[in-house]
Amino acid sequence: MKFGGTSVGDVPRLQEVTAIVKKFLDKQPIVVASAMGGLTNVLLDTAQKAVERKTGEVNNAVAAIRERHLQIAHSLIHDYPRRAALIKEQEASIDELTSLYHGVSLLRELSPRSLDAIASFGEILSCRQIAAILEENGIKAQYIDARTIIRTDDTFGEAAIDFKYSNKSINRALTPIVQSGTVPVVTGFIASTDDGLTTTIGRSGSDYTGSVVGAAMNSEEIWIWTDVDGVMTADPRYVKGAKVLPEISYREAAEMSYFGAKVIHPKTMVPAIEKKIAIRIKNTFNPEYPGTLISAKPTNGGSSAKTVTSIGDLAIIAIEGNGMIGVPGVSARIFTSLARAQVNVMMISQASSEHNVCIIVPKKDCATGVSVLKDEFSVDIAKKIIDDVSVKERVSIVAVVGEGMIGSKGIAGKTFDAVAKANVNIIAIAQGSSELNISFVVEESDAKKAVQSVHDAFHL
Ligand code: ADP
Ligand code: ASP
Ligand code: MG
Repeated sequence: MKFGGTSVGDVPRLQEVTAIVKKFLDKQPIVVASAMGGLTNVLLDTAQKAVERKTGEVNNAVAAIRERHLQIAHSLIHDYPRRAALIKEQEASIDELTSLYHGVSLLRELSPRSLDAIASFGEILSCRQIAAILEENGIKAQYIDARTIIRTDDTFGEAAIDFKYSNKSINRALTPIVQSGTVPVVTGFIASTDDGLTTTIGRSGSDYTGSVVGAAMNSEEIWIWTDVDGVMTADPRYVKGAKVLPEISYREAAEMSYFGAKVIHPKTMVPAIEKKIAIRIKNTFNPEYPGTLISAKPTNGGSSAKTVTSIGDLAIIAIEGNGMIGVPGVSARIFTSLARAQVNVMMISQASSEHNVCIIVPKKDCATGVSVLKDEFSVDIAKKIIDDVSVKERVSIVAVVGEGMIGSKGIAGKTFDAVAKANVNIIAIAQGSSELNISFVVEESDAKKAVQSVHDAFHL
């Protein structure tokens, strides 16, 4: 059972988590949890303040973090020795965090490696208090720092898990705990390299930790407890009439989360697929509701789209030129140079004239992308084989996803008709031959309108 930030973010939520764990104790649950809601952002923003030497703001932020956790301890732990022991450990972590901020200020240097060390405190503080709260309520529980069981490479901020090592070590550490009737409470999001440096596995990565642990333990199911009733036909914050989907396939979940459905981290499906473990999305605010079941079962019930999602903060890089037509190796050079610079390519579109190749990348990778492409093609640009590498910022990808779309006619027509009716201009289009997903690019300011209109057109 993975509990997200909102679900562990205040006293009533933590009481609910306790009730849920208690209710399912006979299933021998393992808990994986996030930092208290919003805390990871606070930790990272404060690191920025530290590097700018805004000492007063850093001190205030640390005081607020301390206060937020102490308040939980005082409200939910009444056994004096237990509370004192928890507070002592929490204080030690907060002192350590303070030293890290101090170091960042002194050096005026904030590397991805330091950011990971700083971000890790959210999950550490949160899971330690959850274990104590469970114990307080008569549930045997043990805090587990995931850095001792999950190993990654050193790509700080988005580290890749070493499954061979981690699967064994998770199993070795947690099996005896579970067998003794104790609930392990494992920190989401964080891990460590083989030489013991703290890493994180990507923002919102606790879902992924949940499935890594669930798969390593051959769990019956992986439950992701969050703050909505399940995976919905669109983001409920932006789309009127979004509905909960009772079932979706792994592939659908992966596609929609990759294109912006924040409810589950895209990598969560990977370990689950391998072990054929179903994932269930459930609501801590409405625990009786069945939620959404994500499994291998194709849900080809209809012949239509199932969800519409969008993701912003992207840019289009276009490589254009008449000289590119029919020249072999252009694409290979584009993607090899981008890969070497670790630029994440979200979508590709090339029309058959081969005159223009469009690559959609996260905004943060855009400058690097343009610079490596200009470098790679400098000779071709000089020779006018390629006109230029151009950029358009502030675009979003809208994705229409559903296995029912496979082999059914008219989906693209209906989608683009709806977008046109919303008076939105489409900048680029892509559909892989899996036919599971039609994606297109629009101005960021048009994304919401486009999503709503497509959602309405398919009566989702
Ligand atoms: P947690 O902290 O539990 O990990 P998140 O905030 O990461 O929760 O994810 C849950 C949120 O995802 C929901 O509150 C909802 O606003 C948002 N969301 C975006 N797209 C969807 C979707 N298609 N279905 C359900 N929720 C979605
Ligand atoms: N706390 C981390 C984040 O905010 C991981 C997570 O919540 O899943 O990104
Ligand atoms: Mg999340």
